[in-house]
Amino acid sequence: MGNSVIIVGAGVVGLACAQKLAKNGYEVFITEQEKYIATQTSARNSGVIHAGIYYPPNSLKAKLCIRGKNLLYEYCEQFNIPYSRTKKMIVATTSEETQILLKLKDTALANGIKLEPISGEDAIEKEPNLFAVSALVSPTTGIIDASKLAESFQHQAEINGANLALETKITKITQASKILVNGISGGEEFEAEFDFLINAAGHGAHKLTKSYWPEAPSLPKNFAKGNYFSISGKAPFQTLIYPVPGPESLGIHYTIDTDGRGQLGPNVQWITQPTYEVDKNLETEFRNAARTYWPGVEGRELIPGYSGIRPRVEAKDFVIHSKDNIITLLGIESPGLTSSLAIAGLVAENLQ
Ligand SMILES: Cc1cc2nc3c(=O)[nH]c(=O)nc-3n(C[C@H](O)[C@H](O)[C@H](O)COP(=O)(O)OP(=O)(O)OC[C@H]3O[C@@H](n4cnc5c(N)ncnc54)[C@H](O)[C@@H]3O)c2cc1C
Repeated sequence: MGNSVIIVGAGVVGLACAQKLAKNGYEVFITEQEKYIATQTSARNSGVIHAGIYYPPNSLKAKLCIRGKNLLYEYCEQFNIPYSRTKKMIVATTSEETQILLKLKDTALANGIKLEPISGEDAIEKEPNLFAVSALVSPTTGIIDASKLAESFQHQAEINGANLALETKITKITQASKILVNGISGGEEFEAEFDFLINAAGHGAHKLTKSYWPEAPSLPKNFAKGNYFSISGKAPFQTLIYPVPGPESLGIHYTIDTDGRGQLGPNVQWITQPTYEVDKNLETEFRNAARTYWPGVEGRELIPGYSGIRPRVEAKDFVIHSKDNIITLLGIESPGLTSSLAIAGLVAENLQ
């Protein structure tokens, strides 16, 4: 029997780690506080396989996104996960924005990502419902069904011997001769020992660090929520459409899911208490943002959809921290879905 490892959290990242470590011969235990896997941030995102355009060169986000994207496309082919290489257009709607696009092209190139500049006419020829004065085409951006991915990771982990315990919440982690874990499962308290622990608990990860890593980067005071509105009727575009990025986010963009449904979002809404309800009064903000690149939004109904909360800490990059046989993953916001297999690879290397 190999070394034992407990993974806290069955989102896409915890499950990606589980399948990797189970294949590598570890005795893997996954605990998830909810009734089902991947119901938190892993079910509340855009489902975009990001190319690796926006992140500072050499950051973990840049490296793991690009590595993760390639691994993810291979994984989707191998295990029949619904995905599509939709491509994406980042569109300028004024000549000033064209200048921003040119800078973005250089940032992407510094990460090894080639974007193709095209004229507004060419962009509109590709997507007749679009308004643009110029655009950058990202050929390697795509979409994925994140819940099918999570199910597949679970299956791959389990066929390699991993055990998943649902409705099992970890409450305390203590570094002793081994790693001592306290938790509650089905209303009963338990205590167990493991050789290694991966804290992949998303929004729950920071709280757990208190007992073994008090110097962990702190949590921001407010939560950065991202809301989505779905679009009634036929999807207006087949390519993903992004405006030029803003200081806080990529801007309210258009995506399509693997079932062909179009949606707008996410925005950035700062909140003090986490809630996933989508306020219908945000519709004006969404219409105003979309109108700049999609004049036809006027004729369409926008329906409040779902929302997600970005799992942030006070750090600019993903935090992947190893100490005393515990690996902690903090701040795994976007592009965490894209990076999941690359994060799992890095975790496996760190365990060795
Ligand atoms: C609005 C939004 C849009 C996004 N869009 C994209 C995108 O298009 N592309 C992309 O690549 N990324 C995107 N992301 C990021 C991506 O969704 C996340 O990086 C990814 O889902 C994180 O997965 P995770 O497994 O770390 O976290 P989670 O999915 O949150 O999983 C953590 C799990 O841990 C469990 N847990 C917590 N505490 C405990 C405990 N004490 N004991 C047991 N279990 C516990 C939770 O129940 C949860 O299931 C987006 C994120 C947001 C918020």
